[in-house]
Amino acid sequence: MSFQRVLLRQGTVITMDDSIGDFAAADVLVNNGVIEAVAPDLGEVDAEVIDARGMIVMPGMVDTHRHTWQAALRGIAADWTLGQYMTGLHLGLSALFQPEDTYAGNLLGAVEALDTGITTLLDWSHNVNTPEHSDAAIKGLFDSGIRAVFAHGGGADMYRVPSTVPHDQDARRVRERYFSSDDQLCTMAMALRGPQFATLDVTEADLRLARELGLPVTMHVGDGEWGRSRPVTQMKDRGLLGPDTTYVHCNTLADDELQDIADSGGSVSIAPDIEMQMGHGWPATGRLMRVGIRPSLSIDTCVSNSGHMFGTMQICLATQRALDNQEPGASDRPAVSLSSRDVLSFATVDGAKACGLDRKVGSLTPGKQADIVLLRTDTPALSPLNNPIGQVVYSAHPGLVDTVMVAGQVVKSGGRLHGDIEARALRLAQESRDALFERTRHTESLTDACTGGSWQPAPLITSVL
Ligand SMILES: [Zn+2]
Repeated sequence: MSFQRVLLRQGTVITMDDSIGDFAAADVLVNNGVIEAVAPDLGEVDAEVIDARGMIVMPGMVDTHRHTWQAALRGIAADWTLGQYMTGLHLGLSALFQPEDTYAGNLLGAVEALDTGITTLLDWSHNVNTPEHSDAAIKGLFDSGIRAVFAHGGGADMYRVPSTVPHDQDARRVRERYFSSDDQLCTMAMALRGPQFATLDVTEADLRLARELGLPVTMHVGDGEWGRSRPVTQMKDRGLLGPDTTYVHCNTLADDELQDIADSGGSVSIAPDIEMQMGHGWPATGRLMRVGIRPSLSIDTCVSNSGHMFGTMQICLATQRALDNQEPGASDRPAVSLSSRDVLSFATVDGAKACGLDRKVGSLTPGKQADIVLLRTDTPALSPLNNPIGQVVYSAHPGLVDTVMVAGQVVKSGGRLHGDIEARALRLAQESRDALFERTRHTESLTDACTGGSWQPAPLITSVL
């Protein structure tokens, strides 16, 4: 590397570290991949200088739950319910995935995330039907250059409800082969089914495996009707709750279950966009905050909603404001309950906490890894800059992401990803998409599958489960 030190000169700096604060103009010095200093003026420094005037300098965003393998199928579920998603995709097209499709999806999804300023991605990988699928998923993440948490979720067959099949033991091999150290750019977690998909005995065994391997856990709970079976209470009664677990969605959990998560030190990932589209229920943002949980944000799947965090932040904030505004006397409130700073915190530092990576990333704190995003502000969309955080949340979009740095490596500058990674990801995804739909023509249950927007799978009826 030609320059170990990089100076981001005179940007508008949002650190998301309350002890440092924000700056209308400041310098950020990166040394050997680590943030060394943030100050109004660091003076002459022996470093490569990146002119950040006219830019917002902020932490890279953290997506705490994405089924990245589905990226090449983007858009197909734009008009589907959750039940249709389960039959059409998760228990439908998923079976047609070859390892090269998993690789193409993960590469595209990770590249898309990087391109939009997401520097840490928890890949909720629940279609690794063979060891080769896991290898391909991990290679896609590695090749992209993103900071990732590969959350091993086993194969789609494990999701036939209620499952009595224990979690795929190949997770042991994956842990040993790829993630023997927790101090690397990509780390590992366990994506477990939990009581909504598996029996409680299986859930207990799966959690025991995760804890034996020393891996954090992420688990869907409280999405739609499934959530009314009190999955958190079921786990609590067996003593299974812990601070190592991230609970995904939580829409239809009861308030006391949210309190139980808080009491156990667990974290939460919400995906407001998909939750409202597909029928998971109202995003639990405000209810979580009331029990002391600051949620993290996630994209979930690009088969319907977009893959960038700007849209998710806007929807998170607008939804909670709408819910608050329905309360009696709302118009007389002295202030809003949820701020744009809260929501940017969900997308950065709270996401890092949920991934167990807040020692490393999530804020522009000296000593942390240099995962940094520069947004252009010299555009009609953001100029003049009167309220940087408010405008990042409400007005920014992926087209403004000028520069992206992961562990000090600049992977995007001048609005373009470096190298041929983008072209390669697009080509492989296109080829994969074509191959998958060709295979549906020879699959009896999927003969009506098609692109173009007209495919409407018969839904899985979740209310009887
Ligand atoms: Zn999910």
